[in-house]
Amino acid sequence: MPSPNPYSSVAAAAGVVSFEAARHLVEQHAMGARPAEAAAETVDLLAGLGRVLADGIVADRDFPPFARATRDGYAVRASDLLEVPARLELVGEVKAGDAPRPGVCVVGRGQAVGIMTGAPLPAGADAIVMVEHTSLSGRTVEVRRGVSSGENFVPRGAEAGAGQLLLDRGRRLDHAGIAIAASVGKSRLQVFRKPRVAVLSTGDELVEIDALPGPAQIRNSNSYSLAAQVQNAGGGAVWLPITPDKPQQLGASIEQGLDSDLLLLTGGVSMGKYDLVEQALTELNAEFYFTGAEIQPGRPVVFGSCAADTSTCADVLSSARTQTGVSAPDKRYFFGLPGNPVSTMVTFELFVRPMIEALAGMTPQPLIFPRARLKSEIRTKTGLTRFLPAMLSGEFEEAEVELARWQGSGDIAALARANCYVVVPPNRERVEAGEWVPVLMR
Ligand code: AMP
Ligand code: MG
Repeated sequence: MPSPNPYSSVAAAAGVVSFEAARHLVEQHAMGARPAEAAAETVDLLAGLGRVLADGIVADRDFPPFARATRDGYAVRASDLLEVPARLELVGEVKAGDAPRPGVCVVGRGQAVGIMTGAPLPAGADAIVMVEHTSLSGRTVEVRRGVSSGENFVPRGAEAGAGQLLLDRGRRLDHAGIAIAASVGKSRLQVFRKPRVAVLSTGDELVEIDALPGPAQIRNSNSYSLAAQVQNAGGGAVWLPITPDKPQQLGASIEQGLDSDLLLLTGGVSMGKYDLVEQALTELNAEFYFTGAEIQPGRPVVFGSCAADTSTCADVLSSARTQTGVSAPDKRYFFGLPGNPVSTMVTFELFVRPMIEALAGMTPQPLIFPRARLKSEIRTKTGLTRFLPAMLSGEFEEAEVELARWQGSGDIAALARANCYVVVPPNRERVEAGEWVPVLMR
């Protein structure tokens, strides 16, 4: 049995908190974090996917720019169809792309103009009757159903007026955001630079993945899972070399990592004799916000910050402040994630993501657990919020979930086959089959 780590006493003062308290602490700090100054860059539209807007997207004209037909049919005056069936005289046709011709294509009393989806509503008309409710013989349109004024077209400017903000700065772009940018003609976008997130794996047993591991050695997979998660959350990973469980080397690597916008450490945060990460951070005058969360896996997770080293660039920063009105961050946040691969991955999703979102320029997003029906009973112990690897299956509105068989927090293979985690609250010893249970998606 390793003896308790005598160095973790300072950090331990910050305490082990509940899952919700830990998450709220991170969110509070994230609310105050933002991208470094002068952090915008211009990218091509599609390269903007997954990036965060540094500049709002504004309507360059009215949307729609003309009263736009939403059905194929006939542009009519609704008052002509108070009694149906009714007969109207066909006086013209507009298709998508036809410019409205003032005075040429006008719907008068008792008249109709053929119209296609996406075409501009001709003058005089106030509704569109769907082609399905009509029949045409020669130039006579027989209409079998009445319409209300305003039906089946979108008035000019109803979606947005020219100059109106369509997407705010701080929005992370998905395909719909890309479509908005395309619709206002933005082939280039101003986005925030991705935050640089240092990834530092610690442990005497670790080797790089292209080395042949000795009998007691382990390949470093955490730097890879973390780099992938960082990328997925909107950051860019900065790779630091594997650092052994030696105080001096840890100190040096941590200092290097603090040059980035955020530092993620894995390993060395448990209670073992060689878990020296908290000690190394304490020696760098770290402030700890929590040194554990009542969760499983991932209980020893650590969150804190160090003062940013501004001594060498104080002049540059103060002049930058006056020029831009934006202050440089005075601290650098770090997370110490437990080294067990599943713990590393889970604690990233639970705690690290909102900080990366904030540093990327977004408002950190709340964590929401959708629910699925549990297929087989779960028995566990109370006291910790558990995030258990599971398989979400079923179809359409029948979401079912079942725990994966796994050998604990080191079992990456079981995790890779799973696709979510079932969340078991700390007061539950038993969850019945058939219950709707919260799920953390992956
Ligand atoms: P620790 O948190 O340092 O006590 O490590 C817990 C377990 O995770 C040990 O079995 C380590 O070998 C393993 N582990 C730690 N770091 C890594 C890593 N970077 N990649 C894969 N496994 C790791
Ligand atoms: Mg270790």
